[in-house]
Amino acid sequence: MEKGSELKDVNLDIIFHHISDLIFQIRVIDVHHYEIEAVNEAYLSNYETSKEAISGRRIEDFLGVDQGIQAIKRFQEAIIRKKTIQFEEGYSFPKQGYKLFDITLVPLVEEGSVGRLIGVAKDITEKRMNEEHLAQSEKLSIVGQLAAGIAHELRNPLTSLKGFLKLIQFRNTDKDIDRYVQVMDSEFHRIEQIIDEFLILARPTKTNFQNNRIDLILDEVIELLSGQANMKSIILQKEYASSLPPIYSESNQLKQVFINLLKNAMEAIGEEGEIIIKAKELNEHIQIQVIDNGGGIADEELEKLGSPFFTTKKNGTGLGLTICKRIVKKHKGTFTIESNEGKGTIITLNFPKIYRT
Ligand code: ADP
Ligand code: MG
Repeated sequence: MEKGSELKDVNLDIIFHHISDLIFQIRVIDVHHYEIEAVNEAYLSNYETSKEAISGRRIEDFLGVDQGIQAIKRFQEAIIRKKTIQFEEGYSFPKQGYKLFDITLVPLVEEGSVGRLIGVAKDITEKRMNEEHLAQSEKLSIVGQLAAGIAHELRNPLTSLKGFLKLIQFRNTDKDIDRYVQVMDSEFHRIEQIIDEFLILARPTKTNFQNNRIDLILDEVIELLSGQANMKSIILQKEYASSLPPIYSESNQLKQVFINLLKNAMEAIGEEGEIIIKAKELNEHIQIQVIDNGGGIADEELEKLGSPFFTTKKNGTGLGLTICKRIVKKHKGTFTIESNEGKGTIITLNFPKIYRT
């Protein structure tokens, strides 16, 4: 006995009904008249209908005029060609809305003409969305790389412009021109700052994660900025808990975060004020807070904070917090801002306690 004979028709029936693709059989009455003859479970459940409600219905009666005509055009194409056709087409469903299908239509030739059509429709909505997502993120990363290249290239002409500006400044005796030169100088400075911060953002990050002592990192940053703080009569106050666990981190990146936060705090204070830098253990986290008694942030601006290029400063870049957020996220930490306009701001960072060896 042949092995194949064990395959029974009933198995085909099971396949037909359990497959997730929508399968349908259409009877061709004439080129304008098509009736639904059979469909599988997936078809019924997608259209939320029953066998009884669908069998024998004209296609445009069941799908509605617009989608019916769309389907009939495809049926006619398969009939004229007398060949299997494949195409992508969208259809709307009562609950799930619009879906995109990859549809195969097979004409069954009976006595020289097409008497029936078999259709298989595979839902590719999600697949297509994922593909588009991927294409979009690739595009973004290419744009990012290009922009980083451009930012880098801008440095050279900028250096020479600054050089010539110095020359003009040096030779000039006219007071008006002196003022213009000063404005130009500060604008150049701003361009430079934007380029620098942008490059930090775009730089491919080499990862060199280690267990770092957070108190030492904070100390270094405070040391770095203490001169500036002194000049503006701003007190930098440390409040570290004793024996803090290390943070598994990239020390340079964490320094970058705290430099940005302390700079912002100092800029919010202007002159005379206090910044408290707290570090402590809190449950499964190490919490660091930067608390300033500066001007604070208005409620309506609070939500825009950290969006790239959002700044309220004349010479700001609006990239500082974007960089902070990105670095904190890379360290699996969280970043929150609380602010009281006129009173000050609290930035809270939580880093997970993870020991790695
Ligand atoms: P920039 O400092 O170049 O403006 P940032 O991304 O560092 O860019 O900050 C964005 C904006 O957030 C600032 O312009 C400021 O309005 C607000 N901001 C950030 N930190 C503070 C703070 N400590 N106090 C008040 N406002 C702040
Ligand atoms: Mg800043």
